[in-house]
Amino acid sequence: MPLSLPGIVVSKGIAIGKARVQQHGQLDIVEYVLPEEYIEDEVARFRHALDAARKQLHTIRAQIPGNTPRDIAAFIDTHLLMLEDAALSTVPIDIIREHRCNAEWALKLQQDALVQVFDAMEDSYLRTRRDDVEHVVQRILHILMHEDHLPSGIESDRAEPRIVVAVDLAPSDLVMLHNHNIAAIVTERGGPLSHTAILARSLGIPALVGVPHVHQYIRNDELLVVDAENGALLTGLDARALDFYRRLQRSERRARRELQQLKSEPAVTLDKVDITLRANIELSEDLSAMRRVGADGVGLYRTEFLFMNRDSPPDEEEQFRVYRHTVKRLGGASLTIRTLDLGADKEIVPGSSTSTNPALGLRSIRLCLQEPELFRPQLRAILRASAFGPLRILIPMLTTPEEVPQVLGLIESAKAELRREKKRFDPEIMVGGMIEVPAAAICADIFARELDFLSIGTNDLMQYTLATDRIDETVNHLFDPLNIGVLRLIAMVLQAGQAAGIPVSMCGEMAGDPALTPLLLALGLREFSMPPASLLEVKRRIRQSDTAKLKRQLGKLLYSENVLELSETLSDINRNHKKFIAP
Ligand code: PEP
Ligand code: MG
Repeated sequence: MPLSLPGIVVSKGIAIGKARVQQHGQLDIVEYVLPEEYIEDEVARFRHALDAARKQLHTIRAQIPGNTPRDIAAFIDTHLLMLEDAALSTVPIDIIREHRCNAEWALKLQQDALVQVFDAMEDSYLRTRRDDVEHVVQRILHILMHEDHLPSGIESDRAEPRIVVAVDLAPSDLVMLHNHNIAAIVTERGGPLSHTAILARSLGIPALVGVPHVHQYIRNDELLVVDAENGALLTGLDARALDFYRRLQRSERRARRELQQLKSEPAVTLDKVDITLRANIELSEDLSAMRRVGADGVGLYRTEFLFMNRDSPPDEEEQFRVYRHTVKRLGGASLTIRTLDLGADKEIVPGSSTSTNPALGLRSIRLCLQEPELFRPQLRAILRASAFGPLRILIPMLTTPEEVPQVLGLIESAKAELRREKKRFDPEIMVGGMIEVPAAAICADIFARELDFLSIGTNDLMQYTLATDRIDETVNHLFDPLNIGVLRLIAMVLQAGQAAGIPVSMCGEMAGDPALTPLLLALGLREFSMPPASLLEVKRRIRQSDTAKLKRQLGKLLYSENVLELSETLSDINRNHKKFIAP
């Protein structure tokens, strides 16, 4: 019987292959009471399993592909450190001796205790740490129970690509799996912002997450189709349906190859309007991806990723080296560095937030203004790097116009310090602001007078305008980019920029959604910044668009309450876009 399970697409593509169901996390742990004379043997067995886990992680570490983001490699180091921590290396031994129980049971008791502690903290960063504990414990348990940590058969079955089905996958597991023949991954847990999702995207492995009870429905060796374009896992398909997906897979591959031809073509509309397409990057390693698609520089460098997965923030010197390296590698294209946007789901000191609603609390520029010892080194590092290439400063989460002179004042005093120290910087460096809070969008005209450029952060702008937490999957459906309130705010910001004669770009995920490209062009957006993977598809839409015609088709609908008509007209426009470049 055909079965279709819905899932969230975190890395696009179509994959067809046999299932390898990974029983990771599904081990049945039973308690045994041991006779006194066996206790020390059990302790030795546990120590041996710890050693084996350590060796496995070192092997994974050595196999990490060169282009893997640095924070993924850091995860494996975190797991190695956890193995050394008394909580996992000695407390289970105490439990074995005290309870006279088997090593598996002791480890399970300790895992439950640790997870409880993490759960009580209710902090999103620490939730990730809890997942780490679970991943490390599972690794040791599999060794103790002589289970392969990786799906059996993958090692020997290199010729046939496999679709890995699991409850959850650690980034380190994915690194390991990547060395074998993996067609796609499908997991029950996870979200688009997890490190496994980031890694799947960077490795180009189609991935679906959040597929409910997937490991219960799918059996080993079953033929599966992962439709990571439309968000579905399919099984039990007949020959006709399989043929349909094979064709779809071929046409997707062809479309991707064809898109590559657009790399050196200009982003210009049919009516000759030039559009700027920049890339969003998180790590300086992402520069290779942006080069592959020929982006016009970086429109958003999320620097907070530099501050994560470490015990103390990077100092001015370390930041300066990273920013200088990045701007130099851009070879003359501009680099827009966003100052620290920490807080909410991006904590620098895990568990430091005491706010009951961190998304509305002391985060981002608010935190930087309150903690100059955090902000000052970053400003100085960015200024110093500006001597090595075109660089712009972008301030996140501005809410009230009074914040602007405070930030500009700090930048001026950093400049004065550098002048005294005879350190070089670009005295004309442009300073822009992110418009991602509704109050700032409404007052965009004031911000536009004080700043050199604006950038619309639609992820937070939607979160705050629609009162919808962006990391809460239960309200995901309320994130509607066609919401009239959201569109009116975007339009206000664009108009404010035009009136003040300053550029306005968009760097939220909306800018990288090709289905929204006609709408954004009709609204008057001319500068887009997006994940490199979306850039060529957006460029294709731009080259098939006529801005004057789009304004006629969509103009009135953009400001009316008729969302249905807007959505249907947009779908019609998108349907008429040619999928392939060549006839
Ligand atoms: C945004 O909010 O749209 C944005 C680009 O910033 P971030 O996603 O990092 O919050
Ligand atoms: Mg934001």
